[in-house]
Amino acid sequence: MDLLDTLSRPLRALRISVTDRCNFRCPYCMPREVFPADHTFLDRKEILSFEEIERLARIFAGSGVRKVRLTGGEPLLRKDLPDLVQRLVRIPGLEDLALTTNGSLLQELARPLRAAGLQRLTVSLDTLDEARFKQLCDAEVPLSRVLEGLDAARSVGFSPIKLNCVLQRGVNDDEILTLAAFARDGGHILRFIEFMDVGTKNGWKLDAVVPAREVLARISERWDGEPIQESRNGRVAERWRYSDGGGEFGVIASVTQPFCGGCDRARLSAEGSLYTCLFAATGLDLKTPLRNGATDADISALIGNAWKRREDRYSELRTTQTGSLPKVEMYHIGG
Ligand code: SAM
Ligand code: SF4
Ligand code: SF4
Repeated sequence: MDLLDTLSRPLRALRISVTDRCNFRCPYCMPREVFPADHTFLDRKEILSFEEIERLARIFAGSGVRKVRLTGGEPLLRKDLPDLVQRLVRIPGLEDLALTTNGSLLQELARPLRAAGLQRLTVSLDTLDEARFKQLCDAEVPLSRVLEGLDAARSVGFSPIKLNCVLQRGVNDDEILTLAAFARDGGHILRFIEFMDVGTKNGWKLDAVVPAREVLARISERWDGEPIQESRNGRVAERWRYSDGGGEFGVIASVTQPFCGGCDRARLSAEGSLYTCLFAATGLDLKTPLRNGATDADISALIGNAWKRREDRYSELRTTQTGSLPKVEMYHIGG
């Protein structure tokens, strides 16, 4: 019997944040004023070990989860990450294991991650302009490092790779066509994501959002395309296929056309709390029971009860009721 929340949504997907640390300071996620170089991140003992993550992932799989995505912070900063991948791909019932990264460490890690069994990769890429990249990641990492990482990942068999591009008005919305052409040429699937009001620290404003409709209009002036028809359930991206065989791209209209109705996703923070929405204010601590000797059945019951009570549909309510509600920060639960 499927575990269903109050809106009859099953639990199918889990994002696991493996670290709260990041080597970038993207202003929309971890602005440097709030996360300076001496910022105190979680202590090693506070974050879940690989054994603990594996055990929880097995329990989640028993509760209906079929897809897992590793994220962060920057997941590739977590030491020995391929070992975790190796543990997770063995879990019965998990059909899909993916990872989202800023790409800066892919050159070294693409091969071991692939060898460990990682199936799919998403690389965040908001610009192809070197100077702008510096501003957008606010770190001493050149764009070329990410692009070389992308090539390394493709050459070890990650294909197609998804590219995530968060568009912001007046920041990178002049690059829609350049990024689309880059993705077409490289055989990647580009997804344009609407800038979201995640967390409380990124100074989000509605007028900085570039609506997905506008992206579609801009792309269709240049290339013909048709929508890929599929069930919306659990899908966040609206997918389009280029008519000339140039592959596909997608738009994720989280702000202008929310998709909470089909949201089957839970999130596990690096310190082991379960969040049932990207915009949730509080999580359910699973680490304490895990470390205090709870059985798998006990933990499964905690997850089940939390999911059955779930009412989240933040994005659908955003325009009317939310205002300044407290929310978890994105680097904490991984987007
Ligand atoms: N560090 C990795 C990375 O950047 O790919 C993984 C974690 S990051 C939080 C996951 C995704 O969230 C990235 O693609 C990032 O661009 C996106 N993201 C972060 N802040 C966002 C915001 N305010 N609105 C929309 N997407 C955002
Ligand atoms: Fe780091 Fe990713 Fe957040 Fe950028 S979006 S600060 S790379 S976690
Ligand atoms: Fe899911 Fe919450 Fe996003 Fe709605 S706002 S799609 S419920 S994570």
